[in-house]
Amino acid sequence: MSERGNFVKIARITPHFGEEPVLTGTKGVGAIFLSGCNLRCVFCQNWQISHRRMGETLNTPAQLAGEMLKLQELGCHIIDLVSPSHQVKSLRISIRLAKEQGLTIPVVYNTNSLDNLDALRSLEGLIDIYLPDLKYSNDRIAKDLSKAHSYVSKSRASVLEMHRQVGHLFPNDEDALAQRGLIIRILVLPHNLSGCIESLQFIAQEIGPETWISLMAQYNPRPLFDSSNEAILKTYPALGRPITETEYENVLEEAQNLGFENIFIQECTAAVEYGSPDFEHEQPFVWDQKV
Ligand code: SF4
Repeated sequence: MSERGNFVKIARITPHFGEEPVLTGTKGVGAIFLSGCNLRCVFCQNWQISHRRMGETLNTPAQLAGEMLKLQELGCHIIDLVSPSHQVKSLRISIRLAKEQGLTIPVVYNTNSLDNLDALRSLEGLIDIYLPDLKYSNDRIAKDLSKAHSYVSKSRASVLEMHRQVGHLFPNDEDALAQRGLIIRILVLPHNLSGCIESLQFIAQEIGPETWISLMAQYNPRPLFDSSNEAILKTYPALGRPITETEYENVLEEAQNLGFENIFIQECTAAVEYGSPDFEHEQPFVWDQKV
């Protein structure tokens, strides 16, 4: 394969301690934040890199493969590809190359789930852990808040394909770290805008309540203001506040009623406590600065 210029644009490559404990462990994930995103969520906490496409270009597949190997050498438990859906072709080439050159830690595909099914199928055998969001259960809200078309059917089809490839998650007995499997993230939005309970019902019925899920309480209205997206508040005024504990507990209770036992939970105060990452900063995440 010939090497090419402008191979892929990357916003940040860094050890990171903000993912679920079965991924983060004690040494963190090796996060590779892709520049850009195939969605345009009005509340995106990473808007500097997803909307504005901050980042630097890597010119060859070998450069990106080398970065993966460096993260492994640093001791990171996994490679975490964040917002990968618009760069599958480049990632596929570099993952294959990195594995040929000695990458042995699991590779995580951390996606909003608006993925092309053929692209996902092309990753079979290269991705060890899928970490998809189910962001919405209503296409109109998905279009208004994320400029996504047919999000509900497309994201659900993607998640089914991911599960077909890697199955359920079984963390190691020794260190409780994940090696292979699926974790589905559900971000609780104010006023039930994300339709969490419908997403949970879909997972329970189509994949099974043994699925590992992550109920995210970290919605933060701050990016709406920082990225000049306030106009959306006229249509969705509830987005101007964090979620309440009652909103979160209702979703958690429903998950338990549906039989889910493997649930990652978050404190509702986390978003307010930590705020949004700042990718102008050398270390964008406050909790990573504390490590
Ligand atoms: S999918 Fe994620 S990274 Fe992309 S715009 Fe939405 S919140 Fe941001």
